[in-house]
Amino acid sequence: MDEGGAEITTTECRGCGAQVSGLGGRYACGVCGWVNHWSQGSGDLPGPEADPDHPRPGRRGRTPA
Ligand SMILES: [Zn+2]
Repeated sequence: MDEGGAEITTTECRGCGAQVSGLGGRYACGVCGWVNHWSQGSGDLPGPEADPDHPRPGRRGRTPA
């Protein structure tokens, strides 16, 4: 199975109208630099826990309120 694979999709650039391909609904135009917002993606982005810089609960030190 191809579980977890991101689907390659194509859309029209909002900036210059070029065809841009993206993974999982996320696009970046190589012509004008337009990118769509991450929230327009397929919604299976890794959470903040996947960020190595994310302050983890239980870690000693300051935690954001
Ligand atoms: Zn563009």
